[in-house]
Formats: sequence, structure tokens, C-alpha cells
Amino acid sequence: MDLLEVKELSKQYGSGDTAVQALKNVSFTVPKGEFVAIVGESGSGKSTLLNLIGGLDTPNNGKIYIDGNDIFSMNDNAMTVFRRRNIGFIFQAFNLLPELSVEQNIMFPVLLDYQKPDKVYLEELLDILNLKERRNHLPGQLSGGQQQRVAIGRALFTRPSLILADEPTGNLDSANSREVIALLKEASTKYEQTIIMITHNMNISRSADRILNVSDGVVTDLGRCRE
Ligand code: ADP
Ligand code: MG
Repeated sequence: MDLLEVKELSKQYGSGDTAVQALKNVSFTVPKGEFVAIVGESGSGKSTLLNLIGGLDTPNNGKIYIDGNDIFSMNDNAMTVFRRRNIGFIFQAFNLLPELSVEQNIMFPVLLDYQKPDKVYLEELLDILNLKERRNHLPGQLSGGQQQRVAIGRALFTRPSLILADEPTGNLDSANSREVIALLKEASTKYEQTIIMITHNMNISRSADRILNVSDGVVTDLGRCRE
């Protein structure tokens, strides 16, 4: 079953002489549980695509279905709730709340949704993220790698069916990058989560199930790459 369907998606910024056609009639599908890497030159439209999939922006044309739901047919409120429950975001900038501790940051989306946090899963995540000793620290007391692991914990904690990551290892050294990717792959296998990750790192893209290349707003499927 396809978890994601992108259909004839187009996005233009601005108008007239200064208009930029950031995405040009893009269509593809992603089956449930697949790990997709998105590669392409800077300015090619990768972040635009990811933001549209996450419902953070609206297209000029086309549709996106997540688990069969037409996301652009939802009103703002419904979209916010849908996003909180079904999509985990990991950005290059960690966007942690500076006044909340590590564990509060990880649980934040669930608390925001008035749900009871799964404390067993919290322990499991703190453990695999190697953050147990840091659980009561504030983000400002952590290294970049540790902060990124908190952001990943936050994205995974709701057990979203879809994880969207925009160059999540951009600020990390190679050892930390490998760890982060291994963790995401493990989660996607264990909980059948679908991952769409923008990356400049060839080693990372090679560890994905499939690579999509974005070039000047056009998406090309480079096929399966895992042996
Ligand atoms: P990438 O993530 O591949 O580097 P982006 O999706 O950020 O590329 O950008 C694609 C194109 O759209 C670029 O030409 C960029 O300058 C333009 N663009 C992106 N966001 C905006 C915006 N908010 N307003 C105007 N132009 C934008
Ligand atoms: Mg980008």
C-alpha cells in the first residue's frame, strides 16, 4: 500500500518577471515503510517538496495523499492535528524549546495533543538515543549531536507513519550522522514508518531504499539502491 501519493504537484513563488517555478508537475508514490532519500543541487526544489508533503505550504496545482487523506482539502485546524499525529519533522535547525528539558522536549507533541505520554517508549527512546543521563538537561547544555538526537526523539515519539527530514545530519560530524541514520532506519523497520529524507551525503543516500533526484523542479526516480 502507498503511504504517500504526490500527484501533478506544482509550486510557483512570486509572480510576473520574478516568478520561480520551484516544482513542475511532480508525481510519485512511496509505499508504506520505505526509506527514500531526496538528492539534488541547492535551489532545485527539495525543501519546497518536503514542506508541501508536510502540509506546511500549499501548491499552485496538484494533490498530496497521506494514508489516503487529501491533505490540502483539510482546513488549518484539521491539518494541524493531522500533522501532529501522523508526521514527524526533523530539520537541520533543531527547533527545540530552550526552556524545556530533554524529556519534556521529546514528549512535547504528545502533551500538546492532550494525550498521555507513553513512558515506556520514552525510556526506550532515551536509551537508544543515548540521552538517559541528559534527560533533565536543557537544550543549551547539550552538544549539537545531542540536540539533534532530542529532535529525532521528538519526531519519533508520536510514532508517526511519516517522517520528513530536511538535511538532518547537516550540522553533525560523520560519526554522529551515521548514528542518526542508523537510528532512523531502525525505527522505520521496527514501527513500519516511512521516511523521506533530503541529504547531500552520498553515503546516506546509498543506505536508502530508493533515491529521488530533484533537478530544477523536476523529480526523477533513480530507483532502488539497496543491495
Ligand atoms: P532546495 O531545498 O533544493 O535547496 P528550495 O525548495 O528551498 O530548494 O527552493 C527552490 C526554489 O524556490 C529556489 O529557486 C528558491 O530560491 C525558491 N524559493 C524557495 N522558497 C521561496 C520563498 N519562500 N519565496 C520565494 N522563492 C522561494
Ligand atoms: Mg533545502
